Amino acid sequence: MIPSGNRTGRCHKMPGKNGEPVKQPLKPKKFPERKCIGCGERKKKTDLIRIVRSPEGEISLDFTGRKPGRGAYLCHSVACFRAARKAHRIEQNLTPGASVPDAVYDTLEEELKKNDA
Ligand SMILES: [Zn+2]
Repeated sequence: MIPSGNRTGRCHKMPGKNGEPVKQPLKPKKFPERKCIGCGERKKKTDLIRIVRSPEGEISLDFTGRKPGRGAYLCHSVACFRAARKAHRIEQNLTPGASVPDAVYDTLEEELKKNDA
Protein backbone atom coordinates (compact mmCIF):
# COMPACT_ATOMS: atom_id res chain seq x y z
CA MET A 1 0.00 0.00 0.00
CA ILE A 2 1.16 3.47 -0.82
CA PRO A 3 0.76 5.94 2.04
CA SER A 4 -2.23 8.11 1.28
CA GLY A 5 -0.72 11.43 2.40
CA ASN A 6 -0.68 13.97 -0.36
CA ARG A 7 2.76 15.53 -0.13
CA THR A 8 2.71 17.83 -3.10
CA GLY A 9 1.56 20.72 -0.85
CA ARG A 10 -0.06 22.65 -3.64
CA CYS A 11 -3.18 23.65 -1.83
CA HIS A 12 -1.62 26.62 0.02
CA LYS A 13 0.51 27.94 -2.75
CA MET A 14 0.29 31.76 -2.96
CA PRO A 15 -0.73 33.09 -6.35
CA GLY A 16 1.55 36.13 -6.10
CA LYS A 17 1.73 36.66 -9.82
CA ASN A 18 1.23 40.42 -9.50
CA GLY A 19 4.30 40.66 -7.34
CA GLU A 20 2.42 42.68 -4.74
CA PRO A 21 4.42 43.51 -1.68
CA VAL A 22 3.35 41.73 1.45
CA LYS A 23 1.33 44.07 3.61
CA GLN A 24 3.08 45.08 6.78
CA PRO A 25 1.04 45.00 9.94
CA LEU A 26 0.11 48.54 10.86
CA LYS A 27 2.40 50.10 13.36
CA PRO A 28 0.65 51.40 16.44
CA LYS A 29 0.09 55.04 15.67
CA LYS A 30 1.63 57.41 18.10
CA PHE A 31 -0.77 60.10 19.14
CA PRO A 32 0.55 63.52 18.41
CA GLU A 33 0.95 65.46 21.60
CA ARG A 34 0.40 69.13 22.12
CA LYS A 35 0.99 71.40 25.02
CA CYS A 36 -1.94 73.08 26.71
CA ILE A 37 -1.38 76.81 26.82
CA GLY A 38 -3.18 76.97 30.15
CA CYS A 39 -1.51 74.41 32.40
CA GLY A 40 1.44 73.57 30.16
CA GLU A 41 0.76 69.85 30.27
CA ARG A 42 1.34 67.77 27.20
CA LYS A 43 -1.71 65.87 26.12
CA LYS A 44 -3.06 63.99 23.19
CA LYS A 45 -4.21 66.35 20.51
CA THR A 46 -7.64 64.80 20.68
CA ASP A 47 -7.93 65.81 24.33
CA LEU A 48 -7.34 69.43 23.54
CA ILE A 49 -9.28 72.19 21.89
CA ARG A 50 -7.54 73.83 19.01
CA ILE A 51 -7.70 77.56 18.66
CA VAL A 52 -6.67 78.55 15.22
CA ARG A 53 -5.61 81.73 13.53
CA SER A 54 -6.52 81.60 9.89
CA PRO A 55 -4.19 82.94 7.22
CA GLU A 56 -6.50 85.99 7.20
CA GLY A 57 -5.78 86.57 10.88
CA GLU A 58 -9.15 85.49 12.18
CA ILE A 59 -9.20 83.61 15.46
CA SER A 60 -11.65 80.79 15.79
CA LEU A 61 -12.17 77.49 17.52
CA ASP A 62 -11.38 74.39 15.61
CA PHE A 63 -13.16 71.30 16.79
CA THR A 64 -12.12 69.24 13.81
CA GLY A 65 -8.40 69.97 14.00
CA ARG A 66 -8.37 70.59 10.28
CA LYS A 67 -8.68 74.29 9.84
CA PRO A 68 -5.77 75.87 8.12
CA GLY A 69 -3.62 78.24 10.05
CA ARG A 70 -1.60 78.40 13.18
CA GLY A 71 -3.02 76.65 16.20
CA ALA A 72 -2.78 76.79 19.95
CA TYR A 73 -4.11 74.07 22.18
CA LEU A 74 -6.08 74.12 25.38
CA CYS A 75 -7.48 71.44 27.67
CA HIS A 76 -11.22 71.08 27.87
CA SER A 77 -11.03 72.94 31.11
CA VAL A 78 -12.28 76.33 32.14
CA ALA A 79 -9.40 76.58 34.60
CA CYS A 80 -6.86 76.19 31.82
CA PHE A 81 -8.75 78.67 29.71
CA ARG A 82 -8.72 81.26 32.47
CA ALA A 83 -5.03 80.76 33.08
CA ALA A 84 -4.33 81.14 29.38
CA ARG A 85 -6.50 84.21 29.10
CA LYS A 86 -4.94 85.85 32.13
CA ALA A 87 -1.46 85.28 30.81
CA HIS A 88 -2.45 86.26 27.25
CA ARG A 89 -1.12 82.98 25.97
CA ILE A 90 -3.42 82.88 22.99
CA GLU A 91 -2.03 86.21 21.85
CA GLN A 92 1.50 85.07 22.52
CA ASN A 93 0.97 81.95 20.49
CA LEU A 94 -1.22 83.14 17.68
CA THR A 95 -1.24 86.88 17.32
CA PRO A 96 1.98 88.31 18.62
CA GLY A 97 1.60 92.06 18.72
CA ALA A 98 -2.16 91.94 18.30
CA SER A 99 -5.01 91.17 20.62
CA VAL A 100 -7.61 88.45 20.59
CA PRO A 101 -11.14 89.84 20.54
CA ASP A 102 -13.12 89.34 23.73
CA ALA A 103 -15.80 87.65 21.67
CA VAL A 104 -13.39 84.83 20.90
CA TYR A 105 -12.59 84.40 24.56
CA ASP A 106 -16.24 84.49 25.47
CA THR A 107 -17.16 81.89 22.88
CA LEU A 108 -14.35 79.71 24.06
CA GLU A 109 -15.39 79.99 27.66
CA GLU A 110 -18.96 79.13 26.78
CA GLU A 111 -17.84 76.05 24.90
CA LEU A 112 -15.67 74.93 27.76
CA LYS A 113 -18.43 75.41 30.27
CA LYS A 114 -20.64 73.26 28.09
CA ASN A 115 -18.03 70.54 28.15
CA ASP A 116 -17.49 70.87 31.85
CA ALA A 117 -21.13 70.36 32.63
ZN1 LIG B 1 -4.51 72.49 30.53
